[in-house]
Amino acid sequence: MTISRNIEQINKQKTQAAIKAGRNPDDVTLMAVTKLHNVEEINEAVKAGIADIGENKVQELLSKHDDVLSVNWHLIGHLQTNKVKSIIDKVVMIHSVDSLRLAKEINKRSKQKDLVMDVLVQINYAKESTKFGIEADEAQELIREISEKYENIRIKGIMCIPPYEDNPEDSRKYFKKAKEDFENLKKKNFNDRVSMEYLSMGMSNDFEVAIEEGSNIVRVGTSIFGNRDYR
Ligand SMILES: *Cc1c(COP(=O)(O)O)cnc(C)c1O
Repeated sequence: MTISRNIEQINKQKTQAAIKAGRNPDDVTLMAVTKLHNVEEINEAVKAGIADIGENKVQELLSKHDDVLSVNWHLIGHLQTNKVKSIIDKVVMIHSVDSLRLAKEINKRSKQKDLVMDVLVQINYAKESTKFGIEADEAQELIREISEKYENIRIKGIMCIPPYEDNPEDSRKYFKKAKEDFENLKKKNFNDRVSMEYLSMGMSNDFEVAIEEGSNIVRVGTSIFGNRDYR
């Protein structure tokens, strides 16, 4: 039962970090990131109270979807347009929207299924061309365009994956910037298809710092399930 013990421990850390920042711990969702972990492990996490799980690959999400106990699935990794169709009615939120083209496809497939998809816009604070996401100063324009064009999408906030730092304190500057951008976007006059509710940031190594800086969805894999076997 190490998974349930790990979750208990992380929830404690989550609570402490929130209280330290003067926040309500219940306002922060602990998402379990389940990539490369099997259905049995995932179900153990669900039984231990996890209600939201994140997968970063469509194929992997689909291969587990029907065998996992009832939870909210989130797509948190890069999404190719040709794969939108197969997940559109399987997830509650897509965290990785970074182009109008992808939004267009999400809108089209949502409409076909008569649903409205919640999405986050992924912002890249790393300035590395290998990472996905848009530049922070492009976010406003992308959100405005998506919200004006696509009626089957609701934009619910932003997501980011800062560069990995061994010392989580070194990630604080990215989280601060993301929070600042989040608050600025909140103040913009978008239409009612935009409500800036979620700031998805923080992983195993740095989720406490992310919570201190305002994250309300932390995406934790390794600290719950152990190391991933990448063979
Ligand atoms: C793998 C992954 C995580 C979790 O990373 P850990 O370091 O294992 O906690 C979070 N977010 C995304 C987008 C991921 O791909």
